Amino acid sequence: MELKKSIFIGMCVLGGIGVGYAVYWDYMRRTNPEFRKKLRNKKRAAKLKKAAVEGAKVKVADFVRKAVEDVAKETFPADVSAKEKYFMEQVAKGESLFGSGEDHYLDAALCFYKALKVYPNPVELIMIYQKTIPEAVFTCVYEMMSLEVKKKQAEYFENFPPKDMNVRIKEISQGSSDENVRRGLFAAKDFSPGDVIFKENPIASALDPSLETGDYCSYCLKELVSGSVHDDSDLFEAVYCSKNCQEKAMNEYAALLFTSNEPSDPESKEARLVGLVKSGNVKFPLMIARFLAKMVHEETQKVATGVDEEYSTWDHIERLRFLSVPPSEKEAKEIKLLRELFAAKVPGMEEFISEERYLMLKGKLMYNAYGINTSRDNERNIRENTEETIRSSKSPVIGAGFYRVASYITHSCDPNTETKFPSKNYELSIVATKHIKAGDELKISYIRTGNRDLKSRRDELEAKWRFSCECTKCRLESGDCETAV
Ligand SMILES: [Zn+2]
Ligand SMILES: [Zn+2]
Repeated sequence: MELKKSIFIGMCVLGGIGVGYAVYWDYMRRTNPEFRKKLRNKKRAAKLKKAAVEGAKVKVADFVRKAVEDVAKETFPADVSAKEKYFMEQVAKGESLFGSGEDHYLDAALCFYKALKVYPNPVELIMIYQKTIPEAVFTCVYEMMSLEVKKKQAEYFENFPPKDMNVRIKEISQGSSDENVRRGLFAAKDFSPGDVIFKENPIASALDPSLETGDYCSYCLKELVSGSVHDDSDLFEAVYCSKNCQEKAMNEYAALLFTSNEPSDPESKEARLVGLVKSGNVKFPLMIARFLAKMVHEETQKVATGVDEEYSTWDHIERLRFLSVPPSEKEAKEIKLLRELFAAKVPGMEEFISEERYLMLKGKLMYNAYGINTSRDNERNIRENTEETIRSSKSPVIGAGFYRVASYITHSCDPNTETKFPSKNYELSIVATKHIKAGDELKISYIRTGNRDLKSRRDELEAKWRFSCECTKCRLESGDCETAV
């Protein structure tokens, strides 16, 4: 059987890692004309078939909806051999069903959809299905997949942030247009000044490159007080506060980004990435590289452990605001280097790192990254980095972090929260500076406000975040007090 043979081959080449399948799926659908055409053709063929039987379309849609709902409630086997057994059973059943004729196509599709749920590399399996199962069955499996992805994304803000973070994300329409909607972070209970509202670790972080191989841990950004550890194979020459940080860094990104088969070759891709980050004193390309490596790590973990987190790292950043970054020579160089580096190590990633996607990631960092301060000595002289971050305190910034939840906090020159790093590492605490009631929106100052006047504040915000501040304080000071709220 061609199908079984292909799947067997698929299972044997699982050493190769794929990217987040929902992303990849969407990416293929949008960017690969052949794939799209094929889907369209398949859809068209299936539609014609459906039109021949009155009500069949509704029947299929109902079936798909019910199947996705039911399968979501099902528990699937967890260990590898049980998964394999379940997978083989579903595929065999699916094959025999579609072999018995068109009346059994929907049930066959359900089997193939269930098989997808336990297969370690769903993207690959979809490709195999596409070549091996009847078009109408494939279309149905495709619709189940699409519906599942759509449902999961639509429910995002119901599931995230987790309840124990004491906040909710809400959409607020502003101005007259319905389309002009912004998202903000709202307190789920009352807080008093000084209360920690929530704590959060970043998705990606980095020291200012001038501080690497120095006094701070490259992973958790903690100031090194009692010695450090490092890995000889690491071309980035990062130092860590502990074995634990070193192992995490190596697993999540450093082994992929900074270990090379040609460690002494100064022109290796890894060595060039080190050069780009360190000589340019730029942390954003490094944070993007780490972010992408982390996505790969997440997929590998999913394949290895069978544990599928409800939302991927990509899902989390997809809804965040960003500044539009026009393509330039500098970015073109960064994109080219990352594409080459990833292409050699992870199949599929070269295509994934498109110019559009890279610039969007950079724009998200530019809008949302928080300056991190873990230094015990606030007077320490730090070579200022040109990449701006949200910095609400007077303390010097030693690095930056990209946070899932804190990224939703809106700016105000008269904020009700501030950032703190009480663990003296990258763990961010959002702390109340005023009395906050359940339902109040959390606001933070993106800039150091001090005693600065209206123009100076607005100019900085305009230059770095490209908005003209209309917070209560700015409106009062600009004489726009009648309309101030
Ligand atoms: Zn550390
Ligand atoms: Zn303002």
